[in-house]
Amino acid sequence: MCYKSSMFVDSHCHLEMEAFDRDRKEVIERSLQEGLSYILTVGTEEAYFEKVIEIIDAYPGIYGAIGIHPHNSNDYGESIEKTIRAHLKHQKIVGYGEIGLDFFKNYSPKESQIRAFQAQIDVAKREGLPLIVHSRSAKEETIDILNDAFDGTIEGVGVIHCYSYDVDAAKRFLDMGFYLSMPGTITYKNTEPLIEVMRYLPADRILAETDAPFLTPNPYRGKRNEPRLVKYTIEKIASVRNQSVEETASMLRDNFIRLFLNGTRGGRNCDTNSHSKIERGDKEEATEAYISVRRGDDDEGNKVI
Ligand SMILES: [Zn+2]
Ligand SMILES: [Zn+2]
Repeated sequence: MCYKSSMFVDSHCHLEMEAFDRDRKEVIERSLQEGLSYILTVGTEEAYFEKVIEIIDAYPGIYGAIGIHPHNSNDYGESIEKTIRAHLKHQKIVGYGEIGLDFFKNYSPKESQIRAFQAQIDVAKREGLPLIVHSRSAKEETIDILNDAFDGTIEGVGVIHCYSYDVDAAKRFLDMGFYLSMPGTITYKNTEPLIEVMRYLPADRILAETDAPFLTPNPYRGKRNEPRLVKYTIEKIASVRNQSVEETASMLRDNFIRLFLNGTRGGRNCDTNSHSKIERGDKEEATEAYISVRRGDDDEGNKVI
């Protein structure tokens, strides 16, 4: 099915990863052709930070987040914290993450994951940035750490990306103020607990993501994922919630803008600078800027390659 332009948002992917080195520009152009207005690309380790900046500088509709992923928790320390703080000053870095706990893979020891998670929550709080939380097989520990770090419900505190828990946990994250983001895996068979979550979530707390190059939705499962495929996830959310795809896409877009672009946690994005129109979450102007740069200005586009 063909949709009108600029309606979709990929709230979490990894365009800076090597998987896109060969054809990053084409991937981004295809995403525009297939109706994406915003993409958030998430740098998970120090080696990717510069690439994230390069990409967000080149494309107005693409924003960034940086943080040390739980898999790389062992790397977290004073020197990386300094580097991260310097990059957070960039006006298009609109989230902190992804950070959290992954006790499924356990690529870093649990203790070091917990330490890096807590330390980075502190940095994000001081910077007033929404958290992008990765949590796998660590439901109770994640909830405990977040509850310790934040008092009560905080509007725009962040997102639990690639949400994989049940409705009960969803309620507890919602109570803290978190949004929950649905990955492409909801298009697979046997995702009953997540379907229940999708039905349960309030319209103003749900996001959709690809996590590209990973977690490719059906019908492309097994191939490399890319932002344009977010539409399959959005179609699934629409069918589960008995809404039109257009209505769902606009709900998801509003949520993305509210969480990341409107600076609800301290007005970070409300100052005046060269990106100010986009930072304020002015939908139409931001979209127009994205489209005009991608269609008309090759110098900008070439920076990415
Ligand atoms: Zn993740
Ligand atoms: Zn990710």
